Parts: sequence; C-alpha cells; structure tokens
Amino acid sequence: MRLASESENFPFELATVCYIEVGADGGVTSPPEEHVQVRVRRGESRLYAVWPGHYRSDLFLIDDIDEYEKALGLQHDPVRTGLQEHKHQVRWSISPCEDRPTGAYVSVEARLDCGCEVRDLKTFARHMRDQRGWDIATTAAWETSSPTSDAHARPTYTFRIRRRSLA
Ligand SMILES: [Zn+2]
Repeated sequence: MRLASESENFPFELATVCYIEVGADGGVTSPPEEHVQVRVRRGESRLYAVWPGHYRSDLFLIDDIDEYEKALGLQHDPVRTGLQEHKHQVRWSISPCEDRPTGAYVSVEARLDCGCEVRDLKTFARHMRDQRGWDIATTAAWETSSPTSDAHARPTYTFRIRRRSLA
C-alpha cells in the first residue's frame, strides 16, 4: 500500500477511483458516506482509494485529507480554481458568433472584472449558479482568449449557458 501524498497528482476526482472507508471498529464502507473527511480528521476512520491501472491496481491511504477535499471541491481552493470565494464581477454579452439564437443553450462571452481566472469550470459554474442563477454547461467545450496586445487586459471566456437561466 502506498500513501496518496507520495504520488504526484493523485487523481482524486477520477470517476474510476474507488474509495473505501474503514472505521475504527473495522467496518468497511464503499463508497464512503458523506462527511468521511470529518471522521478521518477525528481519527474515527481511515480513507483508502484504489487507483485502477491498465495492468494492476494500487491501494492508497489518503493521508492528506486537505488535498482530498480540495480536489473534490469540498474545500475551496483559490489556487487550483483561480477563483476567490466572493461575488464575482462579471461583464457578459451574447457571443457575436452565436448562430442558434433560439437554441436551449446560448454562447456567452464573459470577462471577470474582479480579477479571478476560471481554471476550474465546475467550480465557476457552481459559483454562478449560486450568485446569478446561471446554468453553465460544464461538459461542453469552453474557450478563453487572452488579448496579446495588452498584458493587463482580462481574458474573455466563452461559456454555453442555458438561455432560460440568463435572465
Ligand atoms: Zn471573482
């Protein structure tokens, strides 16, 4: 068995990683129930993960619960996501390239005047759902364009947003 902290970039969020919680009483739960990180911090449980490979699978002890929380979005991580936990100042408009003006989703160009960067679309989508009610597609491709002429200019992002949520 190996320690997750010794592996560079342990793929916590990979769907094929299997998590196993082992309680102090020897009880085994997989997948773990909610708030496993709280029980691990209290020393009531240990959290293991099987990382499946092509030829063999390895068992890891999740020894750094902070990394687990950040990767799964249970703890906000401004470095990984590029996003502060505040109300973002968003300037947006319907993309001039939008060619299906009546579709369920619409392309929107947006800039973040608050200085955040969208490095993690899922987290940004969650923030915007809470703050503006936007329903941003997180499976579709999204684009950024960084202006090359002005180093201080903010990048422009293109998102697909459910039209009805854009009110
Ligand atoms: Zn922001």
